[in-house]
This record gives sequence, C-alpha cells and structure tokens, in this order.
Amino acid sequence: VLVLAIESSCDETAASVVKNGRTILSNIISSQIELHKLYGGVVPEIASRKHIEKINQVIEEALKEADVTLDDLDAIGVTYGPGLVGALLVGVAEAKAISFAKDIPLVGVHHIEGHISANYIEHPDLEPPFLCLVVSGGHTHLVIVKDYGTFEILGRTRDDAAGEAFDKVARAIGLGYPGGPKIDRLSKEGNAYAFDFPKAKVDEAPYDFSFSGVKSAVLNHLNKCKMQGEEIVAADVAASFQRCVVEVLVEHAIAAAKDHKIDKLAIAGGVASNSGLRTAMEEACRNNKIQFYHPSPIFCTDNAAMIGVAAYYEYQKGTRHGLDLNAIPNLRLGER
Ligand code: ATP
Ligand code: MG
Ligand code: FE
Repeated sequence: VLVLAIESSCDETAASVVKNGRTILSNIISSQIELHKLYGGVVPEIASRKHIEKINQVIEEALKEADVTLDDLDAIGVTYGPGLVGALLVGVAEAKAISFAKDIPLVGVHHIEGHISANYIEHPDLEPPFLCLVVSGGHTHLVIVKDYGTFEILGRTRDDAAGEAFDKVARAIGLGYPGGPKIDRLSKEGNAYAFDFPKAKVDEAPYDFSFSGVKSAVLNHLNKCKMQGEEIVAADVAASFQRCVVEVLVEHAIAAAKDHKIDKLAIAGGVASNSGLRTAMEEACRNNKIQFYHPSPIFCTDNAAMIGVAAYYEYQKGTRHGLDLNAIPNLRLGER
C-alpha cells in the first residue's frame, strides 16, 4: 500500500510517500522558520500564503524522490487538524484535488496521531498498547495508545504546552524563535541547579501538567535581575528551566507507566527531540525496566512521513473521508 501524505498545519509544508505504513520512501519538508523569525513567531496569514506557494513543488519532490507517480498511489493522507485553519486548508484542498482527480481514497489524519505514529518509523517492533508522552508546540498529553488510532488521554496541560513554555522563555532570554532548540543548546553550557524554579502539581489530577508557573518564575527572575542591575546568566537560567520541565515530564510519564503497568513508553512532538528529556527519560526507563522509544529529531518536529504512517493505519481500519472534508483547527484526539 502506497500513501502520499501532506502536512501543512503550521509553518512547514511537507509531503511524504510511505510504503506499507512503516517504510519512508521520501520525506520532503519546506520550513518557513526563516520567514517567521522576523516576527518572533508564526504569522498565520504569511504561513497560509507560503504553503500555497510551496505545496505543489514539495509534492512533486516527494513523488520524484520516491520514484513513483500519482497513478501508483493507493491513498492520500492529510492533516486536517488541529492547527492554523488557513494553513490546514491548503493541504486539505490539495489532498482533495488529488483524491478526486486520481479517484483514490482520502484519509484525514489528526496531527497529534501523526506525531505519535512517528515512533513506528524506526521501531519495527513497536506495536500498541504503549504509553506516549506527546510534547509539542501546542500539546502536552500523556496518552495510552490502546491500538492504532485508539487513545486514552490520561493527562494534559492546564495552560501552556511544553514547547510553548520553551519558546516563551527563550524569547524572554533573548534567544529568538523557535526557542526550544536554542534553550537545549544553551543548557549544555549552564548549571541546571543554579535555580530551583517551581514544579507545579495539579491537585487530584496526577497526570496533568502546568507550565505557566515555571514560565512566570523565569520571567520574574529576569525582571528582578534587570531592576537590581544584576547580571543575567542566560545559560544557567536555560539549564535550570529545562531541568525543571524535564523532571516534571519524566516523573509524570514514569508514574503513569507504573500505575497502569505499561512497560513501553514513547515520546513524540518537537520537544521529544530535546536532549535533556531524552537522556533523563532513557535513564528513568532503564531504572524502571520500561522499554523506551523515541523518533529521530527529524521525525519529532512537523513532517509528513508521520502523517503517512498514521494515514496507513487509518486506511487499514477503513477510515475514509469525503470531498466535504474540512480543516478543523481545534480537532480533538480520538474524534473524527
Ligand atoms: P502541535 O504539534 O502541538 O500542533 P507544532 O506542530 O507547532 O505544535 P512541533 O512541530 O511538534 O509543534 O514542535 C515544535 C515545538 O518543539 C516548538 O515549541 C519548539 O520550540 C519545540 N522544540 C523543538 N526542538 C526542541 C528541543 N530540542 N528542545 C525543546 N523544544 C524543542
Ligand atoms: Mg513548526
Ligand atoms: Fe506538530
């Protein structure tokens, strides 16, 4: 089964050809980061326009690299939510056009189901059920993947997503957009125990997260330093912030795995490429006899290969969308 997948939910225009769900024949990503950097974050209008400009070229490249044509495809998969509505619409319209023109099934994919499915690419042995910590720019979810495309959400963030907190703190330290990778890099030069930023717990919801407290604590610290004319040691702030976020993520994930007696734990989303998180989670999993899975960084941040993998499993389950498929900016995981 050959699937062409399209991803355009935020600021990367991406297309990929995936064979039998787990073999990536091509993975083309056109990132708009340089463009949005100028504004310190993603500007939705600019993102949509850029998607329109790039999408045909990206698809052509994906087909060429996979050495296939549109006539070889069995299905077309596309992210239809959540994300920026104008950005999503570009991918959805394109996928519908190809589905109609070539008379092949259209499979709409939830973007986060895609992120989770990225774990299947490099781990042929990984199959549900397993626990997955989703940490991306807009989501922080702890989910049991019960079966392909079937999820039980154990916990979620009450305020900022982990990636969002990284981006906001990076901006406050003056590192620019996108902040996650920059904090990751700077942390390596800092003392992670220089500051004890607060680690929030949510009462009666042991698997929920809250990152607005640590973010505010960092901002308050920076303001205090400025007011009192003290030097800001950015590397120490970054390292301490990252340690605090990573500790919470690891503690929650391991507790959930133990409570639910699950011995396989995967991580997904852009923050899953964070080196501090990978190291700490790996160690915690080893100590608790849990098998740890994580995608390579290129499959952690937005890409279409992960959408193709998710689309394949949805296709196998019989999921088909009509030409009335619409972009759903706030689509919930597990909903259609
Ligand atoms: P969502 O998937 O929730 O819709 P998104 O698609 O914008 O949001 P992703 O592309 O999955 O998010 O991830 C981007 C996020 O990951 C950004 O917040 C970015 O700062 C963060 N990120 C990327 N690399 C790292 C890293 N090495 N350390 C920490 N954060 C990182
Ligand atoms: Mg992005
Ligand atoms: Fe994403």
